[in-house]
Amino acid sequence: MRIGLYPGTFDPITLGHLDIIHRASALVDRLVIGVAINQDKGPLFDLDERVAMVKAECARITKETGMECLVHPFDNLLIDCARDVGASMIIRGLRAVADFEYEYQMVGMNRALDDGIETVFLMADAEYQAIASKLVKEIARLGGDVTTFVTQDVRDALYAKLGRS
Ligand code: ADP
Repeated sequence: MRIGLYPGTFDPITLGHLDIIHRASALVDRLVIGVAINQDKGPLFDLDERVAMVKAECARITKETGMECLVHPFDNLLIDCARDVGASMIIRGLRAVADFEYEYQMVGMNRALDDGIETVFLMADAEYQAIASKLVKEIARLGGDVTTFVTQDVRDALYAKLGRS
């Protein structure tokens, strides 16, 4: 069985993340979504809220693709998390050039820690490539419409969190 780990903050999960998860279903039998606790990043949603949103969205993808999807909060080294869940590959999404430098460094460091785990990069469909959780939060905070960036449930959760109707 091929197991992949897709790590991120998912604050909140967007249509860009979901597109990557869909694409990963062609590569793995089980995808573990690693939700980083990342308190330092000052997430808008607390860990339980992020995990609940990821779980709800992943249940839909499992129904559509048959891929098993598990959600695993983690606060340790990524490579240790991959070993903990039995993953042979780490899945990352690549957006613009800006992502590349950081990801390039991460692969180098992770390889030095464990050469047996490959990192696989996927690109989202063009219409989702520009979506970033950070900007979605900013737009929602400033009263903009985030309908084309997140699912309806996530949009409702965002507006509720920000005291919008
Ligand atoms: P992190 O804190 O690791 O950047 P994110 O939740 O922002 O966490 O992103 C998790 C992963 O999903 C990263 O690999 C990121 O590049 C990828 N990703 C996020 N948004 C998109 C998108 N719109 N298209 C492709 N990949 C994306």
